[in-house]
Amino acid sequence: MGFFDDISKKVSETTSSINEKTNKMAKESKLKKTLSENDTKVEKMYGELGKTVLAKRNNKDDVMKAINDCVDKIEEIKNENEKIREEILLLNNKKKCTNCSAEIDAQAAFCPECGKEQIKVEPKKEEPEEEKIPEGKMKCSGCGEIIETKYTFCPLCGAKNEPPAVEGEVVDNK
Ligand SMILES: [Zn+2]
Ligand SMILES: [Zn+2]
Repeated sequence: MGFFDDISKKVSETTSSINEKTNKMAKESKLKKTLSENDTKVEKMYGELGKTVLAKRNNKDDVMKAINDCVDKIEEIKNENEKIREEILLLNNKKKCTNCSAEIDAQAAFCPECGKEQIKVEPKKEEPEEEKIPEGKMKCSGCGEIIETKYTFCPLCGAKNEPPAVEGEVVDNK
């Protein structure tokens, strides 16, 4: 028994580490895309602000409002980008020193550059929503187990399940 258990465990471990790697790369490129999209957004907002200010230059209140709105939005995007950059670092098992901003090991307790003690960063756990469900299977709404879509009632917990809707999602098969 134990022998076969070991083998199947090893196989699933190998598969999951490959999946993790692919996931990581996909995530990283997605995050980087959002970063550059946000940068473009900010550039655009500067341009629009300029136009608004010119158009409303006779009304000081309107101009100030336009500037404040724009600054708020830009601030928001910049914060988002900051978080995205941290996320990318974390994907690569790195983080930024809170003191000198050096890129250091995510598990480092002290910054090797400046010696500052670090807040411990736990590697992010995969969100359960992101787990890949094989074709023809679905997640039971009752117990969360992966079951065949043909079952209306979960064989494990008896919960009634709606078969997943076939979405017109664009599948990226390059
Ligand atoms: Zn440091
Ligand atoms: Zn169930």
